[in-house]
Amino acid sequence: MDPAALLVGLDEGQRRAVTAPEHPLCIMAGAGSGKTRVLTRRIAYRALGDDADARHVLALTFTRKAAGELADRLARLGLRDLPTTGTFHAVAWAQLHTWWKGRGVAPPELLDRKGRVLGRLLGRVTRMSVGELATEIEWAKARLVGPDHYPVAAARADRRSGLPADRVAALYAAYEEEKRARRVVDFDDLLERCADALDQDVTFAEAQRWRFRHVFVDEFQDVNPLQHRLLTAWLGGRSDLCVVGDPNQAIYRWNGADAGFLLEFPRHFPGARVIDLVDNYRSSPQILGVATAVLDGGASSPAPRLRAHRPDGPVPTVMAYPTDGDEARGVARAVRDHHGVGGGWARQAVLVRTNAQTALIEQALHAARIPFRVKGTAPFMSRSEVQQGLATLDRSSGPLRAALADLDPSPVEDASLADGERERRESLATLVRLGHEFLGLEPDGTARELRWWLTATVRSDDPGPGADAVEIVTFHAAKGLEWPVVHLAGLEDGLVPISHARSTEAAAEEQRLLYVAVTRAEQVLRGTWAEQRTFGARTMARRPSPFLGPLSRAAAALRAESAAVDHDRGLARARAQLDALHHRDGRAELLGALREWRAGVARAASIPPGVVLSDVLLAEVAEHRPLTVADLAGVPGLGPVKADEYGVTLLALVAAHPAAGRATDRER
Ligand code: ATP
Ligand code: MG
Repeated sequence: MDPAALLVGLDEGQRRAVTAPEHPLCIMAGAGSGKTRVLTRRIAYRALGDDADARHVLALTFTRKAAGELADRLARLGLRDLPTTGTFHAVAWAQLHTWWKGRGVAPPELLDRKGRVLGRLLGRVTRMSVGELATEIEWAKARLVGPDHYPVAAARADRRSGLPADRVAALYAAYEEEKRARRVVDFDDLLERCADALDQDVTFAEAQRWRFRHVFVDEFQDVNPLQHRLLTAWLGGRSDLCVVGDPNQAIYRWNGADAGFLLEFPRHFPGARVIDLVDNYRSSPQILGVATAVLDGGASSPAPRLRAHRPDGPVPTVMAYPTDGDEARGVARAVRDHHGVGGGWARQAVLVRTNAQTALIEQALHAARIPFRVKGTAPFMSRSEVQQGLATLDRSSGPLRAALADLDPSPVEDASLADGERERRESLATLVRLGHEFLGLEPDGTARELRWWLTATVRSDDPGPGADAVEIVTFHAAKGLEWPVVHLAGLEDGLVPISHARSTEAAAEEQRLLYVAVTRAEQVLRGTWAEQRTFGARTMARRPSPFLGPLSRAAAALRAESAAVDHDRGLARARAQLDALHHRDGRAELLGALREWRAGVARAASIPPGVVLSDVLLAEVAEHRPLTVADLAGVPGLGPVKADEYGVTLLALVAAHPAAGRATDRER
């Protein structure tokens, strides 16, 4: 295959980014500008042009799903050999295995759930949950902060948790010790160990650097210091690195990511070239317009002005529903309405902020017999906390209502909860809520009957990997993806931004998260929210997301603009029709005379000509050729006031421009 073929379907800027001989190279550009396309084409271009051997290419990203997408895109580019694609974790794990094996060391076991260990360490402490402690430790490790430095670093980053920072540090130290004693490693240790091995073992480092000579990273705004350290170790001072990213899509700051590595790329990699892309190929101008407004309306840096390349589409809408159940059913209806002829279900996605929100959407889609797939998280009924909750209900004696009250974890909107713990509680609260819904239908229902009912109403058969299905995805998991039709559900204060995002920085991150969600849409974007939402047994009044203000204003402006465009188009059509007629019957002169007269009146009165008589009306006069005062009444749109004011002049003008040769005239 000719490498030049890889430049087809790229614009000038993208082509430059694909072919630029320099590295390190950083492509920093807005959503939908083709960064991922450029990254994959650049890999293929270099591989086909003998500048890089695909077997020596490492393409990194942050989630397994994104790595899969990257591999798929590369596979379609016609390379003989495929580059290695993977997450930092997957690559580190594979390399460490090689290293351990080479030294005859039995690999340590991977601790994939640190919850049990942390639970034991916490003992009877109730002010901090296991999930919260896990988040703090993960954050610290991502920031390369050891237990000793945790208190200082946590204070500087304004991290607050249920326990004083020195207690957290002590628990963190105990956790590290426990792992050492039991010879287990967690996911973050993999990155650290791999970087250590590369730093210390020259032979190993050389082998790995020989293997991966050309390194590429997608979504670079989400890199954290630990991953950056590993990346630096992989490179070992070489410069063959290309990263792409968008600082406005940085959504993992809370977990330790640092968009500064992208923003200050040339400082970290001296001599680097930075390329910008300015065209958007994903979204309609209307969607791009509201996306820009979302970023502009708050604490984030202003949105990049991307040029839209897609055709006009409908202006995005936001709908309020009385309750969250109504909202879910409304979304299902809208999904059905947008299921166009020939288009599959997979053209649509429902995006939500939290995992717990998926349950009602799943229920509504299931009821509407719309195939769906939950992405980035488990379907509601498959979540371990939901199954555990159901088991607890099964075991409890007494009425289901009482058992549900015991299970209800409310309040869930507790700012001190860690993400995992909060999500667990939210799912439980949703289970309790659905339990009450069931009791409304079956007042004497049992736990077992609840399980059957849930299985019948929420769970849907997995449509299978290739099957056509609507996707339900969290905002986070939607990054990098795109769909022709996107529904954003739950655009309420408390969800968008999430209630625990209190600091300015956290709010800015939530705003970027909404920007990510909005920019997933290609043609249709539909936002919804509910005036009432039920958590467990409590129903709460809700307000719209504060980010909806700028979004709705932008949408209103776009609607006004498109109405004006429609009006202008209507006029243009009328004019074109008239012009066509003029050529036949010579009425151009009359219209010209009418316009000239109107311009004079307007000048004299210092008003716009359209205020005297509109273009449409002039066209009507030319069409109807009133010759008598009675005829004037037959001109559509010419009311008595204008007829009174200008009638005599109009009659005179018509009379002065006879329409020779008109069929009607001949008949007279
Ligand atoms: P994000 O920031 O959301 O990750 P991105 O910058 O990586 O977006 P891509 O996913 O690479 O953007 O591209 C967005 C969409 O535009 C894709 O469907 C892609 O195929 C298409 N696209 C990119 N460049 C062009 C182009 N020059 N002509 C036509 N379509 C293009
Ligand atoms: Mg991308």
